[in-house]
Amino acid sequence: MSDTSARTHAADGPEAGGELHERAARLDAADPLRGSRAHFVLDDTVYLDGNSLGALPRTVPGRVAEVVRREWGELRIRSWTESGWWTMPERVGDRIAPLIGAAPGQVVAGDSTSVNVLKAVVGAVRLADRERDEILVDATTFPTDGYIAASAARMTGRTLRPVEAAAVAREAGPRTAAVLVNHVDYRTGELHDLPGITAAVHAAGARVVWDLCHSAGALPVGLDAHGVDFAVGCTYKYLNGGPGAPAYLYVAAAHQGAFDSPLPGWNSHAEPFAMEAGYTPADGAVRGRVGTPDILSMAALEAALEVWDGVRVEEVRAKSLALTDFFLECVEACVPSGSVVCATPLPHGRRGSQIALRCADAAAVMAELIRRGVVGDFREPDVLRFGFTPLYTSFTDAWRAARELGAVLRAPA
Ligand SMILES: *Cc1c(COP(=O)(O)O)cnc(C)c1O
Repeated sequence: MSDTSARTHAADGPEAGGELHERAARLDAADPLRGSRAHFVLDDTVYLDGNSLGALPRTVPGRVAEVVRREWGELRIRSWTESGWWTMPERVGDRIAPLIGAAPGQVVAGDSTSVNVLKAVVGAVRLADRERDEILVDATTFPTDGYIAASAARMTGRTLRPVEAAAVAREAGPRTAAVLVNHVDYRTGELHDLPGITAAVHAAGARVVWDLCHSAGALPVGLDAHGVDFAVGCTYKYLNGGPGAPAYLYVAAAHQGAFDSPLPGWNSHAEPFAMEAGYTPADGAVRGRVGTPDILSMAALEAALEVWDGVRVEEVRAKSLALTDFFLECVEACVPSGSVVCATPLPHGRRGSQIALRCADAAAVMAELIRRGVVGDFREPDVLRFGFTPLYTSFTDAWRAARELGAVLRAPA
């Protein structure tokens, strides 16, 4: 897609359009993160789907090629030790840790988010007394978390009870063993109150598992500061690790000694190469591992994480809020009134890094936007999702997206 297509297709918007375009340029010029965009492979497309698949960091292709050519091709088996393959899950985990407010030694990379949800939820329930016979799950959770939590409930002989995230504080009680909540709702972009919910779950004597898929890399999480028990997240959204990149598991240091993983594979054994018949768990983050790590994907992720060097998550959050505020202002100015309804909460304290707009024929509207070079996505039943990734989204991108959306919604059906 080219800039020209944006200009040709944009309908003649209201007067405000020109003023907003100029303001976008000024905001971009003053943006302290403007230099980060150069670390990514991007074109003139307005890419607002980094909350689904982050863009490719420039360091990744060379690093992956090197791992394949030299480490696998020439060193072969020696790379497990000489190239540091064996300890990669903990090394990459420690690289993710500062982005989610975790001290070193508590995060391990590997497997998918779905698999890590199982480890964390079962692990949390196994820390609870038998009388605690229920697991609470965020009622609007990303589906995989709900499916896995239901299986975790069957495995541990508990009942799964869905409750709205906002009601967790009220609903958690003496029967609750564990609670699974999404930090940011994948559909609406609502940010849930991690400090408040964590404190309420603890007051009820239970443990909490946070799914950080839509918050890690977009806003400060503060796992250690808020005393979170377990957390999981993927790395292919705001962390730009690539399609299907390994996920991660956080087990707070205080729980590591008692953590009883439902998937005690040989990589989590205290002496994996002793090849013992009996299982003795390793100490620390290693206990969250299962089988042989996915080295090629993990190498891509490790290289991708370099874009965070010298970046403060607080700075990312400030830009994210400024971008979503500005986008909403542009939507207000460019889109026919009444044609979209914002499903994302407006207060900053309740907003993640995406804007979800409900509109009629949302699937067709998004298809047309993509054709015009503005890439967001559609979620059932009527949601247009626009993800703002502060390392590479500009204010001009936000303006162009709103202007194109206005043009699509004004065009005769
Ligand atoms: C993206 C996402 C997932 C994805 O799970 P995978 O196992 O990586 O496919 C899970 N949970 C949430 C909340 C997500 O946003």
